[in-house]
Amino acid sequence: MKRRNFIQHGIAISALVGIEIPSMDLCKGDKFSLPLVVSTWDNRRANDAAFQVLHSGANVLDAIVAGVKVPEADPADRSVGYGGRPDRSGRVTLDACIMDSNGKAGSVTYVQHYKHPIEIARMVMEKTPHVILSGDGAELFAAKMGMKQMDLLTEESKKEYEAWRITEKYQPIINIERHDTIGLLAIDKAGNLAGGCSTSGMAYKMEGRVGDSPIIGAGLFVDNEVGACTATGHGEYVLRTLASFLVVEFMRNGMHPQKACEKAIKRIVNKHKGTSEEYQIGLIALDKKGRIGYYSVRKGFLCAIKNTENELVKDSEYAI
Ligand code: ASP
Repeated sequence: MKRRNFIQHGIAISALVGIEIPSMDLCKGDKFSLPLVVSTWDNRRANDAAFQVLHSGANVLDAIVAGVKVPEADPADRSVGYGGRPDRSGRVTLDACIMDSNGKAGSVTYVQHYKHPIEIARMVMEKTPHVILSGDGAELFAAKMGMKQMDLLTEESKKEYEAWRITEKYQPIINIERHDTIGLLAIDKAGNLAGGCSTSGMAYKMEGRVGDSPIIGAGLFVDNEVGACTATGHGEYVLRTLASFLVVEFMRNGMHPQKACEKAIKRIVNKHKGTSEEYQIGLIALDKKGRIGYYSVRKGFLCAIKNTENELVKDSEYAI
């Protein structure tokens, strides 16, 4: 059986990573021990990096940045950072945001030439009076902060783009490679939450298009009193419903993270009943108690979970 299929069936992957886990499959209703990291898709390597930082006792925000940087730097991940698919003009443009335990937020949109938009987003949060910097302004700020520029378009992405130009048909493919946009949520031992989200956006999007991922409340929302949520998939559907904020508000009203994700996905589906587009949205949520939830519009979404006892990649249940 292929490794990916093995994971898709939601089997605990202790054998692959050499750690022990309980034989009982953890269900979404359970509380996980803290510290705990959860991410969209099969982002185990990102979880590992984040967890190591958390485990060493460092700040939960440092853990988020360490985790998100993994797919951002990986040219094989074609939906995030370096190696991401370009827009329809051939430019790789990145979106990212971050939120900390104090309710502070930073975001960058339409950033070119920088491999780690999550680091720029963090600097926007910590070193400017603003929440969002966009395009040229974000790049200027990154340069002033001493960050190095690079070409983000890899040969592989360039070749695919050139093939795409033959038809120039904008037709988003759902569940691309199963390691789409990274949304990463973490909670430290003391119960402090933070989150980050990073993407190169929809492949062959219009020039200037910004998705949900860098928009606070859409692609990510963290409220340290309650919990956190992040989204992946066709961003326009998330933007229209502010899905991450919605999930956190459902949790604030007492809902379990799983129920909150299900209710928000159902809201998205109901709001878009008339559409003929085949779209996918996946949501993951984490509450203050270490309970998690994940749910998607369609089959194929994955949630990766990591704490001291567990390293899991789980298939999501879905609405349609
Ligand atoms: N949500 C991202 C966007 O719309 C893309 C994704 O998650 O695949 O830009």
